[in-house]
Amino acid sequence: MTATAALVVDIVDLPHRIGATKDVCVEAGAPAGLGTAVIGVPEGSSLVVDARLTSLEDGVLARGRADVHVHGECVRCLRDLDEERTVTFDELYYLPEAARAAEDGEDVDDVLLVGEDSLDLEPALRDALVPALPFRPLCRPDCAGLCPECGRRVDNLPADHRHDHPDPRWSALAALLPDRDGSDDPADADGEEQA
Ligand SMILES: [Zn+2]
Ligand SMILES: [Zn+2]
Repeated sequence: MTATAALVVDIVDLPHRIGATKDVCVEAGAPAGLGTAVIGVPEGSSLVVDARLTSLEDGVLARGRADVHVHGECVRCLRDLDEERTVTFDELYYLPEAARAAEDGEDVDDVLLVGEDSLDLEPALRDALVPALPFRPLCRPDCAGLCPECGRRVDNLPADHRHDHPDPRWSALAALLPDRDGSDDPADADGEEQA
């Protein structure tokens, strides 16, 4: 059994009667891919999902919440970011025949389907979590990042931290660069990271 199957819940005992409910609680190791390239739920970290499944005419409504651990890195200063998050989801899983009927009318690429006798909560969780994650995670909105000259965290440096005497390696490098019209602007030091 793969980790991906961890969030599959049994619905054999969920009656097909509209409005019938079943409460489920799943504790599992997080499946891979719950996040983006820069931030997300580490695979295998512990995950708790509580959901209420409700039978509807066209399928099953899964409504619930998950407590997850999110890990990432500040894009400016590379500090580790770790937080506990609660994600709420509210997702309709179609019965296969209802999805087929809907397909006649419109484009339904991304509908979630009820399995034969189970339902996988992972896509509901992923759909709720991933758009809520920051595109460019920051340790704080005004993170000053790293000193462009020495690479140390600006937060850890005194306010008057400067490099009056450029590293000799830089002057050696500068000598190799084409003439910059004689101006001696300090290197652009606004701390912004290029995308
Ligand atoms: Zn930072
Ligand atoms: Zn510095």
